[in-house]
Amino acid sequence: MDFALNDEQKMMIDTVRRFIAEELRPLEERLENDGNIDRDTATTIHEKAKALGLYALNMPADIGGGGLSNLDRILCEEQFGHTSDYLIRRAFGNVYEPLLHCRGEQVARWLEPSVAGKRTCAIAITEPGAGSDAAGIRTHAKKTDTGWVLNGGKHFISDGEWSDFFLVSARTGEKEISMFMVDKGLAGFTVGKDQKMMGIRGTPHLELFFDNVQLEDAALLGERGQGFKLAMGALNVVRLAQVGARAVGKASHVLELMTAYANDRQQFGQRIGDFQMVQQMLADSVIEINAARWMVYHAAWMLDQGFDAREQIAMVKVHAAETLGRVVDRAVQVFGGMGFCKELPIERYYRDARIYRIFDGTSEIHRGVIAKSAMKKGASLFELHR
Ligand SMILES: Cc1cc2nc3c(=O)[nH]c(=O)nc-3n(C[C@H](O)[C@H](O)[C@H](O)COP(=O)(O)OP(=O)(O)OC[C@H]3O[C@@H](n4cnc5c(N)ncnc54)[C@H](O)[C@@H]3O)c2cc1C
Repeated sequence: MDFALNDEQKMMIDTVRRFIAEELRPLEERLENDGNIDRDTATTIHEKAKALGLYALNMPADIGGGGLSNLDRILCEEQFGHTSDYLIRRAFGNVYEPLLHCRGEQVARWLEPSVAGKRTCAIAITEPGAGSDAAGIRTHAKKTDTGWVLNGGKHFISDGEWSDFFLVSARTGEKEISMFMVDKGLAGFTVGKDQKMMGIRGTPHLELFFDNVQLEDAALLGERGQGFKLAMGALNVVRLAQVGARAVGKASHVLELMTAYANDRQQFGQRIGDFQMVQQMLADSVIEINAARWMVYHAAWMLDQGFDAREQIAMVKVHAAETLGRVVDRAVQVFGGMGFCKELPIERYYRDARIYRIFDGTSEIHRGVIAKSAMKKGASLFELHR
């Protein structure tokens, strides 16, 4: 069992880490205050990241992506967690894996421009009446001679404002759900309000409305009735990367800050880090982050070996998200009043962390998956001898 990273991996991590420290971190406060950064700045960070080969790292090399293994990608995603969601999207892209199911003319229209950073895509599954129950959607597409007619609506769609097209789940039969690539600007497709959130400031979350939107046959991703299943499968790795690995990165970043503060802040004539109750908060954070990190790496390794890692990813989703929540909560406590004060970023991390337990499947949904599977076929323990 080899836990070491090779030189190439170390160099890659250093490159991402340096890029975030030099190019993105200086923008975080402006983003927090203004709720946005201007298009020119967004273009600049995108171009700089692209020049370093850091755009669309998760996509295969033969279509212009980074061609990284799951483990290597995860190592980068962990670093992404050290900055804001919005800046990650602008600099490194958010090219969703379901697009890899593009075939024929779809490749040139939707997949390749996304990998090149010429088009941006968002994923639109959730509806006001269907969140955790993603199969309970009411949006539907009816087959016509020339394509499909789409009706319905979505909400909470991340990055919708920046997106040129959307991966939309729609009912194509009573018990059948398909996935469509829907371009912004099509007649009958309107974008509603930006639903303001508690954290991850800057990233817009939009409502989408479809009123008799005419789609071509080419808009169907995967087979009729299969696209949704394909997309849900492909989203597993998104969950591992964008929630699991980023949560570990964010928690690590917060821990660095809280450790430095515990070393520096004096009360009663000594460092607050000398008080055992503060030490416990630091120690528990170190232990929990490391446990979450190894779970993330292990799940990525399983994917690279071709194993089905669905349950491991469900476990990562719960554990990494909840670890982050506990770590940022302790950070506010260690920083005392300054942890609650907007003069430092700690309160922002606290707000940003809360969504990790909700999006991409709530903790409750993933716990249900893990428990049901354990009852059906025995718990998925990491036992090497089996
Ligand atoms: C900031 C943000 C960004 C998002 N981005 C996107 C996006 O880009 N694309 C997209 O499609 N969606 C997106 N979503 C939607 C997100 O995935 C859903 O909010 C999430 O899946 C939960 O659905 P819900 O909000 O409808 O909650 P509900 O499903 O109504 O759940 C409410 C509560 O009931 C619990 N619950 C529900 N069912 C069960 C069950 N079977 N067992 C136990 N407990 C249960 C839940 O765990 C939760 O605690 C985003 C949401 C937010 C807030």
